[in-house]
Amino acid sequence: MVFAVLMIVGGLLGGLVAGNKGRHVLGWTLACGVMPLFVLVLFALPTLPRPGISRVCPHCLRIIPWQASICAYCRQPVGEPVGAPCVYCGSTVWDHEQFCPKCGKPKA
Ligand SMILES: [Zn+2]
Ligand SMILES: [Zn+2]
Repeated sequence: MVFAVLMIVGGLLGGLVAGNKGRHVLGWTLACGVMPLFVLVLFALPTLPRPGISRVCPHCLRIIPWQASICAYCRQPVGEPVGAPCVYCGSTVWDHEQFCPKCGKPKA
């Protein structure tokens, strides 16, 4: 019984942390439910940038808010997020991405 509670708590915690870090929520919920120790692995992983919410500072490579004009860590100007429509499917491909996030084709 204690183990079942641990699995549920581990799964929920894993899903929550995964969501905050921009990682696969369902995958981590299942992984942490089966093996609650995965939560510790998840905490150690870096946050992934999410287009529209967060991006990587080109100077210090840390995660900053999408709309930021100056990096909160290194105080360097980071400019506007630059994106161009994918020539294959029309979805936005951001400057830091080498491949279209929707169709996976390389940026033209
Ligand atoms: Zn920076
Ligand atoms: Zn595309």
